[in-house]
Amino acid sequence: MDKTQIDNLKEKLFYNPKHASEVMSDNEIETADGFCEGYKDFLDKSKTEREAVDTIISLAETNGFVQFIPGEKYNAGEKIYYNNRGKSVILCVIGKKSIIEGVKIAAAHIDSPRIDLKPNPLYEDTSMALFKTHYYGGIKKYQWPTIPLALHGAVVLKDGTVVKVCIGEDDEDPKLVITDLLPHLGAQQGKRTLSDGIRGEELNILVGSRPFKGDDSSEAVKLNILNILYEKYGFVEEDFLSAELEAVPAFKACDIGFDRSMIGSYGHDDRVCAYPAVMAALDAVDPDYTIMSVLTDKEEVGSDGNTGLDSSYMQYFINYLAAMEGYDGYEVIRKCECLSADVTCAFDPTFPEVLDKRNSAFINKGVAVMKYTGARGKAGTSDASAEYMAKVRAMLDNANILWQTGELGKVDEGGGGTVAKYVAKLDVDVIDIGVPVLSMHAPFEVVSKLDVYMAYRAFYEFFVQ
Ligand code: MN
Ligand code: MN
Repeated sequence: MDKTQIDNLKEKLFYNPKHASEVMSDNEIETADGFCEGYKDFLDKSKTEREAVDTIISLAETNGFVQFIPGEKYNAGEKIYYNNRGKSVILCVIGKKSIIEGVKIAAAHIDSPRIDLKPNPLYEDTSMALFKTHYYGGIKKYQWPTIPLALHGAVVLKDGTVVKVCIGEDDEDPKLVITDLLPHLGAQQGKRTLSDGIRGEELNILVGSRPFKGDDSSEAVKLNILNILYEKYGFVEEDFLSAELEAVPAFKACDIGFDRSMIGSYGHDDRVCAYPAVMAALDAVDPDYTIMSVLTDKEEVGSDGNTGLDSSYMQYFINYLAAMEGYDGYEVIRKCECLSADVTCAFDPTFPEVLDKRNSAFINKGVAVMKYTGARGKAGTSDASAEYMAKVRAMLDNANILWQTGELGKVDEGGGGTVAKYVAKLDVDVIDIGVPVLSMHAPFEVVSKLDVYMAYRAFYEFFVQ
């Protein structure tokens, strides 16, 4: 064989995942960059699961979706949404085929790691007012002090009134902050391990320092803060007991790199899959199969709770659709197919030791498909079948969608899970697919614009094929 023949043989036999620069035209890159402008806007408006639901419903209604009414009959092409307690939402377009052919489901989560307030958060110490917190999800606690924080969420009064709170997002808004020790006095702290560098009970948020005017008694600073909150929002200290207040980074999404090829933001995990899944559902006009984008809550704490995917809300919604055509839910659900749309770890050249280069996802190599997640010998994963992997692989290649495989770290290095196993539990074929992320779970994560766009193309193709 001559050199050309050998090269051809290599081309035929070797698996060589491509880099975006090899396969994407300038036009397609421009389209991808344009798509990401909408994504950045979504990120800034949707920092919590409640805000994401509001933004998604508003986008859906603008695109002709109407609120689902149980028992109502919907016809092919009709677009509906199901709002689960304001914290998770399903977008659904009724297909031309009967529901008994199954539903195509893309499931992403809209909660992100953050700092929640404790039920009784506010206290005063040495004339400073602070909030006690309990962090939510897997964070490296040392990353959260000394960055500007915003407070988002809802306080529910005893009469049921929901008071929405969002402070720290406008440029002129005050921000909040967790303090850290100065290095001059950090010698003992420096001897702690990194994971213990800042402890859970040290994540106290500074919220004020001026006393209530004319009050020289104790807790005058706390009184002043409560009075400000009462005048602005109309709630009192006891109302914190029925509140969900979440401190998140106050900064906005922005381009990263001199070439603007990446986006830095809080909460890419998993809005970077949620937004493409939403846009794919909005763009999937008159699909053959009934399609659903499920934007769920609670993934970062194990999918427990009635707004997470270990609850039955998605199954019950499919039961309603099945009943509409006179079928039992189980007859439909076992025919469903699902893309579990969640991020994966991107290879970081600064920390190569934890990743197997041959099985890791890289930024700019497209959306990553993971046959399994889990840890310690694949524990806690649904591990998609080779048959389903083959089907998804063919779908992506046939549509010229740039994709790669990925694995969350070397064997026994760590690991993680997604909603895939809760979908699999329902007797549904499911595989993990998502965007590679640098600095995952940090207050400021990084993704590649081209990968975000490829995630959108993958979900859209899945819906309309
Ligand atoms: Mn995730
Ligand atoms: Mn996560």
